[in-house]
Amino acid sequence: MKILEHTISKNNNKIELLGDDNYKNILVIGVFHGDEPQGEILINEYLKNNSSKLLFIPCLNPDGRDLNTRQNANNVDLNRNFPTNNWIKSEDKQYYGGEEAASEIETKFVLNILEKYKPKAILTLHSPYCVVNYDGDANEIAVKCSEFINYPVEEDIGYPTPGSFGTYCGKERNIPTITLELSEEIPIEDLEEPVFKIFKYLETL
Ligand SMILES: [Zn+2]
Repeated sequence: MKILEHTISKNNNKIELLGDDNYKNILVIGVFHGDEPQGEILINEYLKNNSSKLLFIPCLNPDGRDLNTRQNANNVDLNRNFPTNNWIKSEDKQYYGGEEAASEIETKFVLNILEKYKPKAILTLHSPYCVVNYDGDANEIAVKCSEFINYPVEEDIGYPTPGSFGTYCGKERNIPTITLELSEEIPIEDLEEPVFKIFKYLETL
């Protein structure tokens, strides 16, 4: 895999977009939230043994990963920092969406990639809720993912999420966007088989 794009985070970590020469416009993102490390581990393990036409950001939030925080080094929840129509400045600490929309390096990195690579489907890897969430026209993909991993499909998380990636890509731009909430109760090795099946299925889209 080549490094197609990269940027440097506030704390001097590299954030990378990986892909092959003949990549498909399907994007997989790990570690939106720094305390949800499963995505990066699974992506790296997958790429050890598989060539892939998918585009991967194995770790969007390396500063949060190192700090073991949901947020990035500016205490911003990246999943509330996207410039959605309903973005509002929030004083809520856990879901703090930044001083303004798209204020963060990580968010800008993703926005540039969306602009340049125009993904036709996106998968983001979170934890710990054991559910396949989706935004936009992604029911069919969500049902497939659900079959592989045996988590239920949920179209809406049930409360407004201003500035969320799913709202920005799925609801406002109609890019099929899957938010896969993985278990943190079971060993990560046990997630490999179902998640790798999902990656392989995405390759066929
Ligand atoms: Zn998350």
